[in-house]
Amino acid sequence: MRLCENILYAKAQFLIGNMKGTLFFLLLSTCALNAQTKQADLILLNTNIIDVAHNTVLHNKTVVINKGVIIATGNDAISKNYTSNKTIDATGKYLMPALWDMHMHFGGDTLIEENKMLLPLFIAMGVTTVRDCAGDISLDVIKWKHEIDKGILEGPTIFTSGPKLEGPKSIWPGDLEIANETELKLALDSLQKLKVDFIKITDNTLSPPLFLTAIKESRKRGWKVSAHAPVPFTLQELSDAGLSTIEHIGYLLRAASTDEKRIADLRGKGTISAKEGSEQILKTFDADIALQNFKKLAAKGTAVVPTMNGSSIVAYLDKDDHKKDEYLKYLGPALKRTYNWRVDRASKDNAEAIAFRHTNFEAAAALIPLLQKAGVVLLAGTDAGYLNSYNYPGIGLHYELAMMVKYGLTPAQALQASVINGPAFFNQQKNYGAVEKDKKADLLLLDQNPLTDINNTQKINAVIRKGNYLSRQKLDAILLQIEKQVAQKEKAESVH
Ligand SMILES: [Zn+2]
Repeated sequence: MRLCENILYAKAQFLIGNMKGTLFFLLLSTCALNAQTKQADLILLNTNIIDVAHNTVLHNKTVVINKGVIIATGNDAISKNYTSNKTIDATGKYLMPALWDMHMHFGGDTLIEENKMLLPLFIAMGVTTVRDCAGDISLDVIKWKHEIDKGILEGPTIFTSGPKLEGPKSIWPGDLEIANETELKLALDSLQKLKVDFIKITDNTLSPPLFLTAIKESRKRGWKVSAHAPVPFTLQELSDAGLSTIEHIGYLLRAASTDEKRIADLRGKGTISAKEGSEQILKTFDADIALQNFKKLAAKGTAVVPTMNGSSIVAYLDKDDHKKDEYLKYLGPALKRTYNWRVDRASKDNAEAIAFRHTNFEAAAALIPLLQKAGVVLLAGTDAGYLNSYNYPGIGLHYELAMMVKYGLTPAQALQASVINGPAFFNQQKNYGAVEKDKKADLLLLDQNPLTDINNTQKINAVIRKGNYLSRQKLDAILLQIEKQVAQKEKAESVH
């Protein structure tokens, strides 16, 4: 606008000497039209941009958004170049990319409606992308994914593995159970038809050789592979086979043992129990070995999703039973009932077993700075959804970030694990990871700076989702709506 004003001024100078006033005004108005400025859906004025990659704050910036994309950032003067439907004075606020939860589960085949109620909950808590790591309602999840992409349904962008690969008669409902390579091929064919975003493999009954083949074959077909770590393998063997992410930090303890291979062999043969294996790993813990082994994982590009929020809740159920958590009001009654199995299992533990839960969790969590130092890519994920007790969709990701900081990351590193490493896992770094031109406008406006205190991610002033501005008032209305739906369901259940 300023540039065009100068041109106008020059034209006016010229015209005043030569033309009639009417023509001058005509030209002036024509030029005003030309100067008219580009259309924008939303302008945020005078905000502080959190540069997560560089751990810095860019003060007093204007951010212009149109059609779900950031089209300009700069000093406040740039706002004059745009006509906007909505302008927000974001003075004193902090703008950062919205959060990614890189490990959650939709699931429970009788709980489809309650799962669907989680979609707005994620958005209201600032989590605009989730990685669904398998469950038993994959067809519904894939349907939601497409509806959300098309804008028909409100919810986070979903990346999903679809049903996971397992062995015959596993404990997991809704998985794809394979017993040999022919079945593996058929399973991968069917996942290709479902157009899943990555492959999830777990090790309940899947035969170890087939587990390795499944990783290799999935990678050959272009997918990334996320998995638990089956007992007979060292993490290096899994990494060498092409594993993209190891889920849950507990598995990383193995690579911190001076005796990893021998313990893996004994566990594989069933000579020692899981508990004995864990005890031996802790007894042979060596931070230097851990660092060496983690560097090898980093070199191979195997990332880690620690999911500490979930593990710590279960480890410390004796200290906090979570029965009075306020957040429970946002979760459907049947979904909450799926929490019982882990609670029941933990309640059978004696004092010794409880103490071991604590020790094991703390030893695993202490690996976080070593992983970071070794250059292993960390991804922030919760394991929230169904089954995993009190591990809440939405807020759980904020707790996970806080836990990453508690155990040794800087706030910037924790944020990177969500908003930079998350998109990069799905080759989306071009579209996400920063508040800058051409990135998608999935953003969080916070009341305080998350780089100085990671808990400030919870102080959400607004969520911008696909360029739509959801004010605190709007977010509260969404939450209240969910709360009412849950209350209705609970009431209906108590009547029947
Ligand atoms: Zn999980």
